[in-house]
Amino acid sequence: MEQTILFFEFVFIFFGAVFLSLSVSPIRKLIAELEEDELKKSWKVLIILIFFFIPCYAVFAYNLSDICEVVNLMPMIISLMLLCGGIFCYLVGKLALRTMNDIKRLSMFQQESVTDGLMGIKNRRYFDQKIIEEVTLAQRYKIPLSVIMLDVDHFKKINDIYGHKIGDEVLKNLSGLILEVVRDTDIVARYGGEEIAIITPSCGKQEAALLAERLREIIEKTTMVTVGSTQEVIQVTVSMGVCAMSHMITDKEALIEEADGALYLAKKQGRNRVICSNW
Ligand code: GH3
Ligand code: MG
Ligand code: MG
Repeated sequence: MEQTILFFEFVFIFFGAVFLSLSVSPIRKLIAELEEDELKKSWKVLIILIFFFIPCYAVFAYNLSDICEVVNLMPMIISLMLLCGGIFCYLVGKLALRTMNDIKRLSMFQQESVTDGLMGIKNRRYFDQKIIEEVTLAQRYKIPLSVIMLDVDHFKKINDIYGHKIGDEVLKNLSGLILEVVRDTDIVARYGGEEIAIITPSCGKQEAALLAERLREIIEKTTMVTVGSTQEVIQVTVSMGVCAMSHMITDKEALIEEADGALYLAKKQGRNRVICSNW
């Protein structure tokens, strides 16, 4: 009887130690993925505890035959607890790693669903949602808000002369350049075709117009793509319309319509310029 009990106690301790050792691998992978912060430190402590536990299991197993000279349920309970402890750590590590991978996949999917595949900026769907939020915030807290509508000048010619692939490259580099110039808090989105909308929160009309003018100058001076063996340089210019929230412009429809109207005027007046809405 004593021998059977002892046998099971050894089995429990053995598998407890096995599960404890198995838990090290997922936890180490998890630590490698985490940023240096409190959470990472906690996981490191857990892994140190595991390394501390493993020899404890061995020492306990080694002393078990002595403890069990008198039939006593204590070693059985302790060895069961050790088994459960090992399984617990193994599951915690495995589940935490799985959860983190799921979260990463989800955030990647969310990011992709609001990003334009070609230009690498936000897509129209994101713009349509964001403009509602920003207009509501601007009205509630009485803070300025502006929109800049930008369209590439004579872009059809680029496609006609160099082909769509080069046209795509121009659009990609142009949007990358715009992202470099604007503030992190500004929202840059593909509004349609080669038209880009920029929402500038906390920016009045004057400030937005200055940003638009700076963008226009930088774009005009920048080489978007160099093509072929001749290293021919492709440069583009852009036209922009600016509009800000005001006592006359109180909703998103008016804001976009006025910015679009100003863009239309910029085209009409000769392109490569910034026009502000009168309102
Ligand atoms: P304007 O100065 O009046 O704006 O002249 P435009 O030639 O740029 O005219 P418009 O803005 O109306 O034309 C946009 C062109 O952009 C038409 C379309 O073929 C091209 N385009 C739209 N989306 C893409 C795209 O994703 N890739 C490429 N390569 N071309 C595109
Ligand atoms: Mg155009
Ligand atoms: Mg266009």
